Amino acid sequence: MGIMPDSRSLINLRKELHKFPELSGSEEMTSRRIYEFLGKLGPDRLISDIGGTGVAAGFGSANSGRRVMVRAELDGLPVSESNDFDYKSVRDGVSHACGHDGHMVIALGVAQYFASERPGRGELIVLFQPSEENGKGARKVINDPAFSSLQPDYVLALHNLPGFDQNELILRNGVFSMASVGMIIDLKGKTSHAAEPENGISPSNAVSIILRELPLLAERDEFSHFTQATIIHAKMGEVAFGTSPGQAVIMATLRAYDDGEMKKLISMADRMARDIAFQERLDISVHWTEEFPATVNDKFLNRLTCKSGSSFGCKIRYIENAFRWSEDFGWFTGKYRGLLFGIGAGKGHPELHNPDYDFPDDIIETGINVLCKASGELLNL
Ligand SMILES: [Zn+2]
Ligand SMILES: [Zn+2]
Repeated sequence: MGIMPDSRSLINLRKELHKFPELSGSEEMTSRRIYEFLGKLGPDRLISDIGGTGVAAGFGSANSGRRVMVRAELDGLPVSESNDFDYKSVRDGVSHACGHDGHMVIALGVAQYFASERPGRGELIVLFQPSEENGKGARKVINDPAFSSLQPDYVLALHNLPGFDQNELILRNGVFSMASVGMIIDLKGKTSHAAEPENGISPSNAVSIILRELPLLAERDEFSHFTQATIIHAKMGEVAFGTSPGQAVIMATLRAYDDGEMKKLISMADRMARDIAFQERLDISVHWTEEFPATVNDKFLNRLTCKSGSSFGCKIRYIENAFRWSEDFGWFTGKYRGLLFGIGAGKGHPELHNPDYDFPDDIIETGINVLCKASGELLNL
């Protein structure tokens, strides 16, 4: 263990994937590229179109045992890349600004390893899921009938994390990253002439109350952990100085430590918006989108990964507070024993989702090694 299967070809592929990023739900080219790569490794099974563009490959054994899954993500982001190296994104306004290009080649490296060192028992699955960034992919994959033959006993994933030393492993027992959901509030009143606003029903008062009060909800004592409501968008009426508006929309992102607290926050936000609309004589509809459950890590898998990392000389950091951001890996940890761990991308490295972000190739080898070792031990349990 500790051999890097074929670093040069993996790094080249990483750059190629970086150059041609695709948005959530339309990862066709990326998915095809991954499928071809996996096909050449001679897996025991290779499945495409899971949950949309998802791909999975299995490396098994004649002896029955546990099924261990390593999961990576296929999608890029609607971010305009500001880098100017030769593998810069060729797609305007789309880039691999979350490093999923790097996570993909790490999972491919794991596949290369288990293609040549077949498990003694059980099965190793590498899964490439679509649409992580909008929270839809993991759920779709899990609910796809094709996934029923892939049900894992353990599921592992990593995410590169700028702000931490390169190759440092970041772990936490229990909640690793929080739950979040998008809230869309549509208010409907009645348009009127701006000279006679009393003849219409303007949502302006309700909008101003909601913009002020919604973020304050999260500060109530009912919550025992970090909770947050962030207004991300608001629009009312049209730009027409002769018209008093008759409709408005407000969007907010709600965050909560875990799924229980999220449930509470959702019902409080919903109730508040409806009460205000009622007072202002407005019709209201509330929609929810981009739902991410909290990612909750398994203690045993944490210990195992910590051990694997230490054996390769990685610094290990157990963080005190869960990350506020969300990961749709939470759909997996809600159903299976799972672990999402962080791997440091470098202290001064550009932040995730930023225009100048690029995945650091120097952490590919560590990612592969730690995942191979941890998976290997799980298969041998
Ligand atoms: Zn992201
Ligand atoms: Zn990501």
